[in-house]
Amino acid sequence: TGSLYVVATPIGNLDDLSPRAARVLGEVAVIAAEDTRHSGRLLRHLGLARPMLSLHEHNEAARVESLDARLVAGEDVALISDAGTPLISDPGFVLVRELRARGRRIVPVPGACALVAALSAAGLPTDRFLFQGFLPAKGGARQGRLERLASREETLVFYESPHRIRDTLVDLATTLGARRVVLARELTKTFETFLDGCAAELLERMDADPDQARGEFVVMVAGASPRQEDEAGVVEGEALLVALLAE
Ligand code: SAM
Repeated sequence: TGSLYVVATPIGNLDDLSPRAARVLGEVAVIAAEDTRHSGRLLRHLGLARPMLSLHEHNEAARVESLDARLVAGEDVALISDAGTPLISDPGFVLVRELRARGRRIVPVPGACALVAALSAAGLPTDRFLFQGFLPAKGGARQGRLERLASREETLVFYESPHRIRDTLVDLATTLGARRVVLARELTKTFETFLDGCAAELLERMDADPDQARGEFVVMVAGASPRQEDEAGVVEGEALLVALLAE
């Protein structure tokens, strides 16, 4: 049987496509792409003309059988998304889950991923982080999600679109207060920018320069500082334990 290659593509700068990714995309029998027109342009630019078929959230489940049949027939298949790493806030999870359940060989071909690129240059703790993808679109649900995340000590990471970046900063300001936020905008592209400050400050920056609200964003927020009461609670518990052991 053939293999499914899960191939990362650039998030802006086309030079970020790895030589291995180019080789794999040039060799597979078919490339399953989120948007065949969008990816067709990338592949033509790379001089890689391979047969393509669409695989997006609305037809992903329906594609499993036909792609599996091709693997069983010995063909190799590549999966790509519009940008970055497939399955990371992008289609492909259902396909990978189903093919792995059938024991097919699934090979990652790693490369660009906006969340990792953003974290690698933000200067926020990266030893533990909590990736949340896109926040809910509706205001109430978005605020509720942020309230539930308020006590998490890990760095919080979100994807955001230019349409909602301001609303999200407003919600961050009200739910998480003065915590440090780093915005990574247009990574690997001409107008790549990192903005750093509390959410209210970042809103002021956008008011002063509306260009700062354009493009694609990774929003990173410092985690909650460990709670004093919790630490006190641990100390109390230890004292109780010592007392009980002494008995
Ligand atoms: N699979 C992609 C990845 O590996 O990063 C993410 C796909 S998701 C549908 C698109 C979101 O990723 C954008 O709304 C933005 O939040 C983030 N993103 C993608 N490219 C970016 C870039 N060049 N700069 C900043 N954020 C980016």
